[in-house]
Amino acid sequence: MIDISLITLNETAVENNITFLKKKLGEKVKISAVVKANAYGHGIEEIIPVFEKYGIEHYSVFYYSEAIRVFDCLSKPATIMVMGWLSEESIRDAIEKEIEFYVFNIERLNSAIKYAKELNLRAKIHLEAETGMNRSGLNIDELNKAIAIIKENIEYIEIAGFCTHLAGAESVSNDFRIQNQFKRYKKMLAILEANNLNPKYKHAANSAAAFVYPKTRLDLVRVGIMLYGFWSSTEVFIHYINSKHNKIDPLKRILRWHSQIMSIKKINSGEFVGYGISYLAQSNIKTALVPVGYSFGYSRSLSNKGRVLIRGCRCSVIGVVNMNMIIVDISHVSDAKLGDEVVLIGKQGELEIKVSAFSEISDELNYEILAHLPESIIRTVIKQ
Ligand SMILES: *Cc1c(COP(=O)(O)O)cnc(C)c1O
Repeated sequence: MIDISLITLNETAVENNITFLKKKLGEKVKISAVVKANAYGHGIEEIIPVFEKYGIEHYSVFYYSEAIRVFDCLSKPATIMVMGWLSEESIRDAIEKEIEFYVFNIERLNSAIKYAKELNLRAKIHLEAETGMNRSGLNIDELNKAIAIIKENIEYIEIAGFCTHLAGAESVSNDFRIQNQFKRYKKMLAILEANNLNPKYKHAANSAAAFVYPKTRLDLVRVGIMLYGFWSSTEVFIHYINSKHNKIDPLKRILRWHSQIMSIKKINSGEFVGYGISYLAQSNIKTALVPVGYSFGYSRSLSNKGRVLIRGCRCSVIGVVNMNMIIVDISHVSDAKLGDEVVLIGKQGELEIKVSAFSEISDELNYEILAHLPESIIRTVIKQ
């Protein structure tokens, strides 16, 4: 654990986002909280107790290792769904632990049946349909094959879901493709149902699809980014807010990332600062050293561009981002002292460093920046 850079998670924001999502998606739609990539950088072990507290009882992950982390920190019964990778051995373990998983090829279906037979249990699977993203999923022929296999082994398989993933609902340019995908999904669902196989949950939408294409909500929405207080894209936000009188963003960011001043220096005009010749002081300046660098998810592309907050003032990163450090100009913060809080993401006083501002400079997605926050950063839950 490295204690010099901290993440605080605001419980009130979690409550706000879950309340908003439940209200908008309606009572009949189950929310599956997507907690892949260490809960979008928020920390699986830290955020799950808070999600539980506000009524989340369904979790989606990508890797089986993430499923196990969720399994180990749950304090109430909940469903865990693996959307991606699971090794042969973990299929057996998953069935034993009643962890649900996607089936997107016949091989995995056969493995599920094999282990379910050995254990004399039913594997809880989500059949994933290939509807046009061309990433993973069963095409119509494979679906028909899968149906035949399932019918022969029905005592070992529970169809927990029938699902697909839409290829980019956050941008209107994908509209045609998304609409076609959803049509194909419905067609494939009809094939399944015609065989008297009725999935417990039909699901297709992520955050963006649930808001832009309400009909894709079906029984369950796999909500990631919005739970954490971010819109999938500006387009999705505009789409939502346009029809509202109140133009205030209903979502609240949960995460605040901060560090502190490690050292302060005076630099004379004409001196270079940091490695090489990336920054030349144009006047006498005062700098603060902050012990966070690219090894901590603070991208090198923020060299000479990033902003942080110190004592309620915006300060610029000067020179290149190092592996473990950045240098910021604090000439205008006359009372800055060693140990002062440095906000990298989040609010301080009246100002805020938004993930979006950050991502515009570094050309990373919100998702990417959050997912890059190292697991070693200590995360604490607070109520604000
Ligand atoms: C990541 C993911 C989601 C969640 O997407 P958001 O845009 O964060 O809501 C949903 N479904 C699948 C298959 C995913 O991989």
